Amino acid sequence: MLNKKTIDDIDVKGKVVLLRCDFNVPMKDGVITDDTRIEAALPTIAKLSGDGGRVMICSHLGKPKGKVDESLTLAPVAERLSELLGQEVLFLKDNEVVGAHAKWFKYNMTEGQVVLLENTRFRPEEEKNEDSFSQELASLADVYVNDAFGTAHRAHCSTVGVTKFVKETAVGYLMEKELNFLGNAVDDPVRPFAAVLGGSKVSSKISVIDNLLEKVDILIIGGGMAYTFVKSQGGHVGLSLVEDDYLQYARDMIQKAKEKNVKLLFTKDIVVAPEISDDAPFQTVDVMNIPDDLMGVDIGEKTIEMFSEALKEAKTVIWNGPMGVFEVPNFSKGTKAIAAAIADLDAITIIGGGDSAAAAIQLGFSDKMTHISTGGGASLEFLEGKELPGVTAIADK
Ligand code: ADP
Ligand code: MG
Repeated sequence: MLNKKTIDDIDVKGKVVLLRCDFNVPMKDGVITDDTRIEAALPTIAKLSGDGGRVMICSHLGKPKGKVDESLTLAPVAERLSELLGQEVLFLKDNEVVGAHAKWFKYNMTEGQVVLLENTRFRPEEEKNEDSFSQELASLADVYVNDAFGTAHRAHCSTVGVTKFVKETAVGYLMEKELNFLGNAVDDPVRPFAAVLGGSKVSSKISVIDNLLEKVDILIIGGGMAYTFVKSQGGHVGLSLVEDDYLQYARDMIQKAKEKNVKLLFTKDIVVAPEISDDAPFQTVDVMNIPDDLMGVDIGEKTIEMFSEALKEAKTVIWNGPMGVFEVPNFSKGTKAIAAAIADLDAITIIGGGDSAAAAIQLGFSDKMTHISTGGGASLEFLEGKELPGVTAIADK
């Protein structure tokens, strides 16, 4: 279990609580297109406000690179948050984040009131974790709470630096939930424990494979990264995605799986096409013999069956990375089938990874999984076995 202080361990009545959320929501023309991350923050906000805290929320949005960029203002988030919370959330429009409004509200908020500060990345110091801005943020608050799991792998002023200057710190419910689900699954899994890995590149998942091979009983590899493994075994992969620099690594991993007694499963048959497009003709071939002018874009029927069968015995499943180019409807069948197979299991099922989470939600499986992580990069680093600086910085219980 998590050894960090949580908001259940602190008393916030009458105190100004600086709450770091991850409101880095997708936007199109100033309109929020997916408010999953705002929803996910509600329990913590409601708790702090309900306990009589004076809640000042901060977050980043997009990549304004240390400059004021009006297209990345958090104003629309305050509006959506008010609706979802059922309570007015005032937006404090200080372009310097900690400005006249924030300073005034520090002393004049009522108990239970919730306000939102401007995008922390409008400040050039934020991503450099410079003390000056960390101190300004800290000067607002009696207590600092970090609930921004999606940003926990970054050491920035609003996630790490600020903790040096605030006496009392804790994690919020979302952070606690993410860490407990991912942490228990990886470190104390109900066995058999299976990991399903996919996505585009071996290179981006090296540390995940390496770390999980120490822990899992079954490792399933699909998606674009399978072809580097296939080629490393002498297979003919045509135009498929391959990282030639990682062939030896792939062989080493196969060897490691043998030594650790991990059941390692690869793609058997594969859907191939001349290009990544919904208009492209496609067929299924054996993965060791992909024609020169074609590329693998999805797993085939036999593979779906083999993977689904292997998953049936699993009691814990972690899924990271789609099985094919799921963004193209014709090539989304494998990802959909594996998502369905995982959703059907009587097991703890966890999805980590931005695109896999998006795929599961988009394909309609969200309520059938035990947990879908809201933090793409952070969950990946967690699966790599790395410490998350935003969590490390919080006081221990
Ligand atoms: P996650 O965000 O879940 O960690 P990744 O970012 O590693 O996943 O990979 C997602 C991407 O992998 C998707 O955009 C998908 O189109 C791509 N992908 C999956 N299979 C293939 C394939 N066979 N060829 C090329 N790209 C693929
Ligand atoms: Mg991704």
